[in-house]
Amino acid sequence: MDDTEFEGQDGAAAELCDLCGEVIADGSELYFVAPDSSVVHLAHPERDGQRWIVACSREHGRQLVEQYRARPFVEPELWAGKIARALAEHPDGLSPTELAEKTGLTPEEVERGARWQAEAAADWYRRFGGADGPPP
Ligand SMILES: [Zn+2]
Repeated sequence: MDDTEFEGQDGAAAELCDLCGEVIADGSELYFVAPDSSVVHLAHPERDGQRWIVACSREHGRQLVEQYRARPFVEPELWAGKIARALAEHPDGLSPTELAEKTGLTPEEVERGARWQAEAAADWYRRFGGADGPPP
């Protein structure tokens, strides 16, 4: 899960261009938004699936937006992010019905999001978990 929040910044803080890393301290940064199924926002669920981008120039902003548009938008990935956020907010656990309520997803979407997360974890262990497989 990734979270990009601009709230709480007072406007005087320096920004970094998401493409070239240039420090933008004079307030000339430009903001863009691009579809990205790996993004959920802690305080603004209505922005889930939208990556907010900071760039030093229109050219760099456009390049970043094109990069994100080229990435497949995977709905179960977005659902998995919503599930993870709801679980983080409810450390005592949630039933599948409660998960659907808290995330605004249908029970089928909750199931597919959870399955996507499990498959992504298994894939990660296959690739990076070493020869002994996933830890117990
Ligand atoms: Zn730049």
